[in-house]
Amino acid sequence: MTELKVAIAGAGGRMGAANIRAVVAASGTKLHSAISGIAIHSAFDRPGTDAIGKDAGTYAGIEPLGVIITDDIEAALRGADAIIDFTAPAASVALAQRAAKGGLVHIVGTTGCSAEDDKAIAAAAGAGARIVKAGNFSLGVNLLQGLVKKAAAVLGDDFDIEILEMHHNKKVDAPSGTALMLGQAAAKGRGVDLDTHSARGRDGLTGARKKGDIGFAALRGGTVIGEHAVIFAGDAERIELTHRADNRTIFANGAVRAALWAATQPAGLYDMADVLGFSD
Ligand code: NAD
Repeated sequence: MTELKVAIAGAGGRMGAANIRAVVAASGTKLHSAISGIAIHSAFDRPGTDAIGKDAGTYAGIEPLGVIITDDIEAALRGADAIIDFTAPAASVALAQRAAKGGLVHIVGTTGCSAEDDKAIAAAAGAGARIVKAGNFSLGVNLLQGLVKKAAAVLGDDFDIEILEMHHNKKVDAPSGTALMLGQAAAKGRGVDLDTHSARGRDGLTGARKKGDIGFAALRGGTVIGEHAVIFAGDAERIELTHRADNRTIFANGAVRAALWAATQPAGLYDMADVLGFSD
């Protein structure tokens, strides 16, 4: 493969625009030994959204690219090697199934997927798609995951773990995909199952905190891109591991890196730790 041809899903969205800018910024540079470059092949969104019919570059706030944002998904995917998809769960499941048919790279940043959605995405990876799915594509959060796992293992359940996140007022799912990733890392460090050891949405007469639970709290407001803190609260001491995203470029650059990496991998389901080479 000489150049990775990318279809941008949800091109009219906040992350869609960031992904367009990141692919354009990366194009022309030699990014991987087997791939000489990366380019925007197409951009699409849902019918009826403002972005349809607009130039993808102009819409993303950069120079015109001569790629018109379409609502014809099949036409957009024709000839594409990869899809960068930060959209909505139902769209990501359908795109994973389409990626399986064509053996495409599918980068899934969408959060809020149900267990059923995740199962369908894994099945698509088993049927030929090269999928990288992560609740957070930034280098910093993926490093933080490792630190949280280590801290949870060392500190044990005498320390209460609480995960606090804040995002902008347009976000539709809670807790964030990143908070859940960090919760999984803490649960792994402790050797417990997150599903049976988490406390979400406390309200009213909740009773005392259950020892061993991993707590989640979600704040929403303004234009906050994403802030996460994992708090280990012990007897008379507290450790806090924090990540703050200043802009969406960190996720988009990670998605581009993942697409280039996945293009050289066999079909399967991967996460960002695989891409960055620190999975265990
Ligand atoms: P957004 O609402 O600004 O954009 C989503 C876009 O997807 C919209 O333009 C929408 O019309 C489009 N879309 C929805 N269904 C579609 C379909 N069937 N076909 C084509 N397009 C469709 O939201 P956003 O802030 O860009 O976030 C998008 C997703 O990415 C959310 O799930 C968010 O939590 C997630 N996110 C993930 C990361 C990460 O690193 N994994 C980082 C930031 C955001």
